[in-house]
Amino acid sequence: MVEPRSLHDLSYREIEDALRADDVKIVHAKKLWRQLHREAAEDLTACDHFLPPLQQWVDHNVGTEKTYFLDHLQPVDEQRSSDGLTRKYLLKLRDGQTIETVLMAYDGRFTACVSTQVGCAMGCVFCATGQMGFIRHLRPGEIIGQVLHVQRVLRQDFGKKLRNLVMMGMGEPLHNYDSVMAALTTISDTRGPSLSPQRITVSTVGLVPAINRFAEEKRPYNLAVSLHGASEDQRSALIPISKKWPIEQLIAACRSYATMTNRKIFIQWTLIAGKNDSLEIAQQLSSLLQGINVHINLIPLNITDGYAGTATANKAAQQFQRILRDAGHACTFRQRRGIDVAAGCGQLRVEKKERVS
Ligand code: SAH
Ligand code: SF4
Repeated sequence: MVEPRSLHDLSYREIEDALRADDVKIVHAKKLWRQLHREAAEDLTACDHFLPPLQQWVDHNVGTEKTYFLDHLQPVDEQRSSDGLTRKYLLKLRDGQTIETVLMAYDGRFTACVSTQVGCAMGCVFCATGQMGFIRHLRPGEIIGQVLHVQRVLRQDFGKKLRNLVMMGMGEPLHNYDSVMAALTTISDTRGPSLSPQRITVSTVGLVPAINRFAEEKRPYNLAVSLHGASEDQRSALIPISKKWPIEQLIAACRSYATMTNRKIFIQWTLIAGKNDSLEIAQQLSSLLQGINVHINLIPLNITDGYAGTATANKAAQQFQRILRDAGHACTFRQRRGIDVAAGCGQLRVEKKERVS
């Protein structure tokens, strides 16, 4: 028997092809796509919006032990921060694995932070996801499913829509390049969730060949690069993958991305006391980025179980920022969100007992 596929994994064209293969007119693709990706339908049986040929196709092909299934991620836990501005969802996948998705409110506008892998293979020492290791990639439907979940929540609880999307949850998006790009094509499709590509940010720890590909393919999303060190020694002490794609190559890739695309690049810098927060390092960083159109985001370290480091004190962090700003770089602090429910940057992790189904 052929392995069942998620309807959410399919592109619009693939949905048309699937209908055509069963002699259903492809005009029906639009209604099906809308129910899947705009209405975030959890079930397609007896769907009022479908004409009989489409409903018959669905009844015949979609469901348990049929050709297709729907990626409806099951919420198994929800935590809300005490300030009420952040919600963290633990979502269960079909194989029993779980991932975390975070919804944050900024001035009445909503941003979702989604996962791209179960765990992460990059092993950054200060990151809870890195500390848990790599389990598997997410399929496009599982990435889209997180967006559909938060869309449902926003609709029901706030009567609002999602405005911004950051691929900054569990995992390294560019390690799962094809699935992430397929998901984003659907998520930004105007017939579907219709999120503006300019409000979507892909964050990477610095996979050089994938950054080059992202630039060559002219992907219309923002790119954020997690740097954290201004020399190879500083960086590879925190980020093992830097040994494979050294900082020199990474900066060259950022420079060529900025030139090729004429876009600003976001640089993320987690401030760790005594590791990467001295004024000399700020100056080194400033020179490294000279001539590249960047916006630097400073993130005071969030505590994780597996790393003993602490966040840079406020005053030192502000001096670090001052040096970068005086040198002409745009530089702001990332607002700290959801720390009390471990939903902050780098705190996402699924406990072992929850991972075993
Ligand atoms: N894998 C991607 C995206 C997910 S991590 C990446 O690394 O860019 C999102 C951001 O959180 C990254 O900039 C990462 O360096 C940062 N981060 C990880 N652990 C952190 C921690 N403990 N405190 C603060 N920021 C952290
Ligand atoms: Fe992976 Fe990003 Fe965490 Fe590094 S910081 S381990 S790349 S999720």
